[in-house]
Amino acid sequence: MALAHLQYPLQTPKNSSTSSRQQQTKKQLLQPMLEKAGDAIAVLDPSGTLLEVNAAACHLFGRSRRTLVGKPLATFIKPVLDITFDVNQVSLNGQITIICPKGIERHVEYTLTHNVYPQVHLAIFRDLTQRQAQAEEELRWQRQRVELFSEVTLKIRQSLQLKEILRATVTEVQRILRADRVLIYQVLADGTGKPISESVLPAYPAILGMEFPEEVFPKDYQTLYAQGRVRAIADVHSPNAGLADCLVEFVEQFDIQSKLIVPILQNLNPPSPSPENSQNQLWGLLIAHQCSGPRTWADFELELMQQLADQISIAIAQAQLLETLEERVAARTAQLQKMNHNLQQEINDRMQAEAALRQSEEQLRLITNALPVLIAYVDHQQKYRFNNKAYEDWLNQRPADIQGSHLQSVWGEACYRRMQPSVEAALDGAVVTYENEVMVHDGSTRSVNVTYIPHLDEQQTVQGFFALTSDISDRKAIERMKDEFIAVVSHELRTPLTSMHSALKILATGRLGTLSVDGQQMLEIADDNTERLVRLVNNVLDLQRIESGEVTMDKQAHNAADLMIQAMEAMQPMAGQQGVTISAYPKDILVWADADYIVQTLTNLLSNAIKFSLTDGVVTLTIEVRPTPEDKTKKEVLFQVCDQGQGIPADRLENIFQRFYQVDSSDSRKKGGTGLGLAICRKIIEQHEGTIWAESTLGAGSIFSFTLPTLKR
Ligand code: ADP
Repeated sequence: MALAHLQYPLQTPKNSSTSSRQQQTKKQLLQPMLEKAGDAIAVLDPSGTLLEVNAAACHLFGRSRRTLVGKPLATFIKPVLDITFDVNQVSLNGQITIICPKGIERHVEYTLTHNVYPQVHLAIFRDLTQRQAQAEEELRWQRQRVELFSEVTLKIRQSLQLKEILRATVTEVQRILRADRVLIYQVLADGTGKPISESVLPAYPAILGMEFPEEVFPKDYQTLYAQGRVRAIADVHSPNAGLADCLVEFVEQFDIQSKLIVPILQNLNPPSPSPENSQNQLWGLLIAHQCSGPRTWADFELELMQQLADQISIAIAQAQLLETLEERVAARTAQLQKMNHNLQQEINDRMQAEAALRQSEEQLRLITNALPVLIAYVDHQQKYRFNNKAYEDWLNQRPADIQGSHLQSVWGEACYRRMQPSVEAALDGAVVTYENEVMVHDGSTRSVNVTYIPHLDEQQTVQGFFALTSDISDRKAIERMKDEFIAVVSHELRTPLTSMHSALKILATGRLGTLSVDGQQMLEIADDNTERLVRLVNNVLDLQRIESGEVTMDKQAHNAADLMIQAMEAMQPMAGQQGVTISAYPKDILVWADADYIVQTLTNLLSNAIKFSLTDGVVTLTIEVRPTPEDKTKKEVLFQVCDQGQGIPADRLENIFQRFYQVDSSDSRKKGGTGLGLAICRKIIEQHEGTIWAESTLGAGSIFSFTLPTLKR
């Protein structure tokens, strides 16, 4: 039987007035209940005619009550799977499709209760279309959520720009949640804060960049959020929201009706396996606002916001890491740039210094090459490190061949043996000047004057020495010629001088007639000067003979005491005349010497000592054996003549051993000297392989010393 054959159940029964009243009362009670019910309810008679519908049913069917009541239900439905709807037979539950105006179809589920009254059935409809739409909507939301989530995650992964990530997040969240405003609020250290990213519908005020005082966001709120609390306020005006009046006023400024707040936390600890130990800091909040009206926030919306907040905190951590890295990279880059700059500067300085050095070296080379002397630098291994062009001219060797070569290989063994003591002395730190004979490339020999000047480093260690070698061959030749000339002249002078001296002596005796007092005086002057001239000529000849090697020392073992006494006795008359005392301390020491020449040396020294002493002065003559200064294991004999005379200036102590050198040029006249005595003494002592020198204190006296080797057995 078709549904349309249902009979109307709530019609007034005809049999009893009591039951009619009762039914009337029931109807009055049921009617409002039916009306208020949320579900669509229809009352049907057994033929399926709609006897009554409530408001929800009218809404579901899309038609007025008047249109529906009295009409068979079949008019408004489509059979499902060709099953004819028989109100008396159909199952208690099922699904049908309702045809609404404008061809709209609604898929509904029904529940049929038979005979709620006799011959009256009750049908309850639930709109499946809406539920399906809701389910679909739900699904779509979920998909969008997943999409958004993966999109934002991707952006976070792809971009390290925090600002960009935050902007993308608020835009997407606003779009997906269809919220009126979504923002990210950063909490600052002092409790204040400000929205740093916002997406808001144009109808509502923007709050981006505004700074909010701490009162708006009190500390205890911050503490709760730091613990991960999420807050969803459906209606800010509702007493359930628990917002203080001032806060409600505050949110009203921005048209906020409803809000959802999730914290963005930062983990302060390094990653730990136990999350309960981790300590979180509230970085900020992800906030969604509804301004159009109250809004109940769905669980998945909360969840989505939380997940995004987590992603944001990852992005913040990454951005901070990047910032730190960038800072470090920037600092390191700046450091490297500075180092690079300094290095470049250093290179430039060095290049300039090298160029200056090259230039000064070039100048030095030009200067040294222009000089007619040999200039060189010899290192501590006695190897040439620098030499000027003169070496090339002398030795016919290129400077490059000489550089790095040992002295011995450059000059040959014999020459090197002569220079070796001076080289060693220079490497010991002494300035050395000596004369040498060197053979040059054409086989000729040249006399040279050599000076070595030690080169000391900052620690005063000798690194090498500078060697200056000048050719004195010409000077030597002239000197030789001069000596020879003097010798010849002296020799030629000696014979006539001797006879003149003898003649004057005879005249002085008066045997050939008496002279006037003036004549006698003139004669004495002539005698004195002739005597001096004879002495001079003798000295010149002596010196020349010794220097030329004409004289060979006749060395024998002698008792030094004998030689000292002999010299002292010879000088006694002169000392007596001058009122000077000679104190000699002879010792029996054997010396290997030419007795005459050593006595001559001692006599010369004693004569000078007496000459330059004051009356009543004492001249002492001593002798001792002492270790040699160079080698303490060897011995030598030291003779010393000491006086208390005028003394000699320190800078003349070496000069006085040169020929014709006198400290005071009037000495030759006043003291009758020739300036040759000490030069002869030095030659004699050198011939004995000894040394002679003078020490003096001006005004206090002088000491003349010479050494002789001890007797050779
Ligand atoms: P001289 O014949 O002039 O003495 P010497 O060669 O013996 O020549 O001495 C050279 C010079 O040395 C002297 O003229 C004198 O100026 C100085 N001299 C030498 N001995 C002494 C001395 N004992 N005291 C001071 N001056 C001296």
